[in-house]
Amino acid sequence: MKDRHHILVVEDELGIALTLYSTLSRADYKVVHAKTGRTALRKAANHYFDLILLDLGLPDISGLEVCRRLRAESITAPIIILTGDGTLRSKLGLFDAGATDYMTKPFNLEELLARIKAGLRPQPDYPNQPPMQVGELILHPARRSVERAGMLIELRKKEFALMEYFMQHPGEVVDRTSLAEHAWGSKGGAWTNTIDVHIKHLRDKVDRPFAQPVITTVHGYGYKLVTSRPVAKRINQEGRRYEGIAQDSP
Ligand code: CA
Repeated sequence: MKDRHHILVVEDELGIALTLYSTLSRADYKVVHAKTGRTALRKAANHYFDLILLDLGLPDISGLEVCRRLRAESITAPIIILTGDGTLRSKLGLFDAGATDYMTKPFNLEELLARIKAGLRPQPDYPNQPPMQVGELILHPARRSVERAGMLIELRKKEFALMEYFMQHPGEVVDRTSLAEHAWGSKGGAWTNTIDVHIKHLRDKVDRPFAQPVITTVHGYGYKLVTSRPVAKRINQEGRRYEGIAQDSP
């Protein structure tokens, strides 16, 4: 029997919760229901979910806040926000809070199933790209994570893209425009503020647990990746042979 995907349904309206429960169960998903934000946070902390359906209007904590807290707890499962018509003030706010997708009620169940399927699909951004090493850092594209001094750190999509850019330019001062172009893929696609927020999240993960920061601020210019040996290498599948892709700095 194949492993079923586990979905957490956070919804306080019982009618909608029941509809979702039966629809998703019929589609062969294992469904766990939470009626409040607090219950959702507790369940998500104690159980692995492949995807979370999250109502925005909950009786205790707002869905938006639940979403933020889930991300703060490093829960990386896709989160699809369910929102009542007219209660959606800012789509950008949803994505800033870490949502993957959203749907407005009343929603079409077929469409919801399609979006769930899309959300569960593995991220195709970095198919079979080999890991890259700079000093004590090893970037794992296939796992979308970075390893520092043996500690594996999971990164969110933008954090990964930023880290990748830093590691492609070790020891160089990189400006926010270049970082934005790399991570958002368009010129002027992200505000300075947004980049700084993502860099902060990245630093919380990559630098905070360690005595020495690797990402440093260069006031007035941007940021710089500082490591003991600023050489970028691609590691082959066996992890043995290296191919230099940047020169050693003096
Ligand atoms: Ca509700």
